[in-house]
Amino acid sequence: VELREIALRQGWSLNDYSLTATGSGAAAEGEERFFEDEVDLYAFLGLDWMPPEMRENRGEIELARRHQLPTLVTLGDIRGELHGHTTWSDGTADIAEMAEAARGRGYAYWAVSDHSVGLGMVGGLDPERLQAQAAEIAKLNDRWKSQGVDFRLLRGCEVEVLADGTLGLPDEAMAALDVVVASIHSGLRQDRETITARCLKAVYNPHVDILGHPTGRIIGVRPPSELDVERVLQACAETGTVVEINAHPSRLDLSDVYARRAVELGCKIAINSDAHEREGMEMMEYGIATARRAWLRPQDVINTYPLEQMLGFLKDRRGPVQRT
Ligand SMILES: [Zn+2]
Ligand SMILES: [Zn+2]
Repeated sequence: VELREIALRQGWSLNDYSLTATGSGAAAEGEERFFEDEVDLYAFLGLDWMPPEMRENRGEIELARRHQLPTLVTLGDIRGELHGHTTWSDGTADIAEMAEAARGRGYAYWAVSDHSVGLGMVGGLDPERLQAQAAEIAKLNDRWKSQGVDFRLLRGCEVEVLADGTLGLPDEAMAALDVVVASIHSGLRQDRETITARCLKAVYNPHVDILGHPTGRIIGVRPPSELDVERVLQACAETGTVVEINAHPSRLDLSDVYARRAVELGCKIAINSDAHEREGMEMMEYGIATARRAWLRPQDVINTYPLEQMLGFLKDRRGPVQRT
C-alpha cells in the first residue's frame, strides 16, 4: 500500500508488476512501464528491494530509499546449534546420531544440551552424569579431529530454573561447560512478580549463557507465562545473556516482536531447534522466519558465527562483566 502511494506521488499508478502514468508526473498520461521483477520495479521508484518480511511500514521504506536496509539472516548463515537433546535425557537419538544429523546440515558445531536434574519427569543430568557424558563427547571430537573433520560437539546443558530461581546444577558444574542454556519448564503459572524474579535470578548467574524459550508458551496449548519480558530482556542486555529464539513451530519463543525488542536493547540472539530427534533440526527454518520478521541480521545471531568466534563471544561475556 505504501509502495502504491510512493508510485502515485511520482505520477504512476501501480498494478502488480507494471506502472501506468497518471499524467501528474514527467511521463505522458497512459504511458506504461513493465518490470521483469520486483527488484526493477523498486529500483525505478528509487528504492532498494526489500524482502517481504520487512514490508510492515515500520520505517523500511525510508531505509530502502537511503540504501540502508539491513541484510537479514538466512538459513545458510547458521553454522551450528546451541540447544538440543540426546538419549542422555529425553531425546530419541544418541550423541553420535545427532552429531551426524548436524554434520549433514553442514553445521560446524552442535551443543549437546540435555536436561539437568530438577525437571520432574525427565531423568536429567547431575554433575556426575555430565562428567560421564563429557567423556563420550571428547571421544567423538578426538575421532573427528584425527580424521581432519571440521566439526565439533560442544558440552552444554539445558539447566532447569527451579521454582525459586536457583538452578539445577551447581556453579562449578556449569563452569566446566562450553554453553549453558537456562530454561523454565514448570511453575509457568506463577504470578508476574514471582516468575520475573525467578527468571532474573537465572539471568544474573554469570554461568548462564542463553535464556531458553523465555516465555514458555506452547502455541494452541499453553499461553505465555506472566513474565515481564521487557524487564528480563533489559537484564539480558545488561549481563550479555543471549536470548533464544526457539525454532520449534509450537514455541517460536521469543516471538518476532520480542526478538526485535531484544536486539534493540542490545541483546544477542541464538536460534535453536531444540531438537529431540534428528529430524527436529529441520525446524530451524521456522526460527529463521521468526528472526527475519524481527529484522535480525547475521551479526545479531551468535550461531551464525564461526566456532572460535562464537566460543570467544561466550568466554568474553562470562569474563569481566560485573554482576550484581
Ligand atoms: Zn526446554
Ligand atoms: Zn530443550
